[in-house]
Amino acid sequence: MNQRPPRTLATPTADLVARFAEIVGPAYALTDPADQQPYLTEWRDLYIGRTPVVLRPGSTDEVARIMALASEAQVAIVPQGGNTGLVGAQIPSESATEIVLSLGRMKCIRAIDPAGASMTVEAGLTLSEVQAAAAEQGRLFPLSMASEGSCTIGGNLATNAGGVAVLAYGTARNLTLGLEVVTAAGEIWDGLKSLKKDNTGYDLKDLFIGSEGTLGIITAATLKLFPAPREKATALAAVPRLDDLLPLFRLAADEAGSALTAFEFLSERALAFVAKHTPGARLPFANAAPWYVLLEISGMEEGKAESFLERILTAATERGLVSDAVIARSLVQAQDLWRLREAMSEAQKGEGGSIKHDISVPTPQIAEFIVRAAEVVEGICAGARPVPFGHFGDGNVHYNVSQPIGMDRTRYLALWEPMSRAVHGVVAELGGSISAEHGIGRLKRAELPLVKSAAEMDMMRRIKAALDPKGILNPGKLL
Ligand SMILES: Cc1cc2nc3c(=O)[nH]c(=O)nc-3n(C[C@H](O)[C@H](O)[C@H](O)COP(=O)(O)OP(=O)(O)OC[C@H]3O[C@@H](n4cnc5c(N)ncnc54)[C@H](O)[C@@H]3O)c2cc1C
Repeated sequence: MNQRPPRTLATPTADLVARFAEIVGPAYALTDPADQQPYLTEWRDLYIGRTPVVLRPGSTDEVARIMALASEAQVAIVPQGGNTGLVGAQIPSESATEIVLSLGRMKCIRAIDPAGASMTVEAGLTLSEVQAAAAEQGRLFPLSMASEGSCTIGGNLATNAGGVAVLAYGTARNLTLGLEVVTAAGEIWDGLKSLKKDNTGYDLKDLFIGSEGTLGIITAATLKLFPAPREKATALAAVPRLDDLLPLFRLAADEAGSALTAFEFLSERALAFVAKHTPGARLPFANAAPWYVLLEISGMEEGKAESFLERILTAATERGLVSDAVIARSLVQAQDLWRLREAMSEAQKGEGGSIKHDISVPTPQIAEFIVRAAEVVEGICAGARPVPFGHFGDGNVHYNVSQPIGMDRTRYLALWEPMSRAVHGVVAELGGSISAEHGIGRLKRAELPLVKSAAEMDMMRRIKAALDPKGILNPGKLL
């Protein structure tokens, strides 16, 4: 495509920074490096940015005024929510010219309609706060992930987040009815509809969902609510062979249908890392197994979910798909089992450098992917330790690879690109995706043109040019 590059972006002068600060008030315009620090480093320590100012607006109107000024001055804006993103998309570049726009103060719950099964919330509420607000009305907002205490609903939508409940309820996109967005030019689009059906042309909200802050600033959203399950039953099953995971999933899904609300898996090494590095983690089995599955059944009828789960596990044991299993008998036990799964990302830090892949393949191909990926990884770095885990039911494998024991961390991480190219090569051959849920950001930007057709890249660039003609929104990310 013959696309004009965006005009050169400006470096904000002190005067301009002062004009931005006036919009939000001095207390919410952070220029002190110590105050800025939490906004400039990310969870994996891969990117450390610099910025003249972090702006923390308190309303949609302030966001609109910030964007109007940024557009006029041609200054880059990097939207940020809870700063839990895993591809570096929320961190400004090292140039110290990009302004961070943090939505974390916009925490208003504008409306909850339990009868209409929807709620309208501002972008800066954390996912936990949104879940709690729904629960207070006896409803469920099902999006759920280990970062939910920190990540924001704006960030969830900008990344089209997945998590542990996609199997039953879908991704953030599937849970969204409407959006309010501030455009790159500073206009406010009020698309906060709660309609289930609305066929009146292009679905604009779907453009902004998953756009990683490159097309507009999401300031509020109308979300779907669901009946809260009356009970949940949770189990951890030990699985003897990689090839048993798929038939176990099929058995559970066929038996439970939509009541199967989670089917998460961990490798033996993954659970061993959790046991070693997570304070208070208790492994429920005396003997290790090659694979583990965390199953959750949600029920609308009291007293049924647990017996349902028992039936599934008994059938699986009879077929040799499960060698041992523990069913949580209390909420605390269920939380303990979930902690084993959710502590996984953090636990891996204790094993040195980790090269991460967030891939998806069709579920029947997961076992083949894991075998073939291990071969290519060993070819690139002998002794590197794959730690596959993730959302089996969605075909989503977090294929993280820890460094060989004793190897220098920096030397190992220098292999990120060749290793990822090789692993993603296997993904491509199996018809999968190189980013199942974390996005492209900065981390995978160079790879995007290799996995998208020229026609797709062309359409994406045209959309970007139409909605952000000056290229001020999150430059250097995604495209
Ligand atoms: C321990 C851990 C576990 C995780 N588990 C999962 C998981 O299971 N599933 C999953 O999908 N992700 C997971 N993540 C990744 C991360 O939590 C999600 O990507 C989350 O949606 C990011 O939300 P955030 O508010 O932190 O966004 P940020 O990290 O602040 O930003 C992420 C992206 O969204 C943009 N953005 C943020 N807010 C807005 C806005 N209001 N308008 C426009 N753009 C915006 C940013 O520019 C950036 O491109 C995990 C992360 C951690 C640390």
